[in-house]
Amino acid sequence: MAINIAIDGPAGAGKSSTAKLIAKKLGYIYVDTGALYRTVGLYSIRKGIDTKDAEKVIATLPEIKVELKFVDGAQHVFLNGEDVSEAIRTPEASMGASNVSAIPKVREFLFDLQRSIAAENNCIMDGRDIGTVVLPNADVKIFLTTSVEERANRRYKEMLEKGEKVDYNDILEDIKKRDYQDSHREVAPLKQADDAIFVDNGSYNLETGTEYLIGIIKEHLK
Ligand code: C5P
Repeated sequence: MAINIAIDGPAGAGKSSTAKLIAKKLGYIYVDTGALYRTVGLYSIRKGIDTKDAEKVIATLPEIKVELKFVDGAQHVFLNGEDVSEAIRTPEASMGASNVSAIPKVREFLFDLQRSIAAENNCIMDGRDIGTVVLPNADVKIFLTTSVEERANRRYKEMLEKGEKVDYNDILEDIKKRDYQDSHREVAPLKQADDAIFVDNGSYNLETGTEYLIGIIKEHLK
């Protein structure tokens, strides 16, 4: 049986960078499920569809093929054969993802893909509902978070490093809005699973946070 580690938490908590490094150190694959919602959102954005218009977004689903491929352990996401791994990283795609992810049919559409990857691979999967809905029997569940200001600050620095022109307050507002939407939607809202381990990532950097989580994971896999 494949070993599955679930990491959930709000936007900007450091889930993806930490999970990526843990995956590398443990030899697992890292699955970023947010990329799937971003891809569905991107398709609607490109077609000029309002990502809050459930009926219209649902009508696009039969036209969409989303695939994940792993190159040297790194995840690439494909939309109808096109590698959109970079294109889904804009603030517009973030909001689009949050909007389409509240539509139950979109969640159903992406469910089997997530489940089948986890069934076939030792993996560390991050998202909002991995421990609660997608992998309720995951071997280890972690809920990673920290203050909204710290999360916005991290995102801000990440984007500056990528050479993007961004405003800290815009990012803060964007994250607050996504936090609210993600935790108040009716289906699979962002929440800590009862059996998840809560970790406040605020006082760790990438290295120390990764080591701390690997310690927790190893302890639970014994
Ligand atoms: O993790 P990331 O910020 O890339 O996720 C983008 C959006 O996708 C989130 O704001 C959330 O609304 C949605 N999402 C979700 N369930 C997941 C992963 C992401 O609803 N498992």
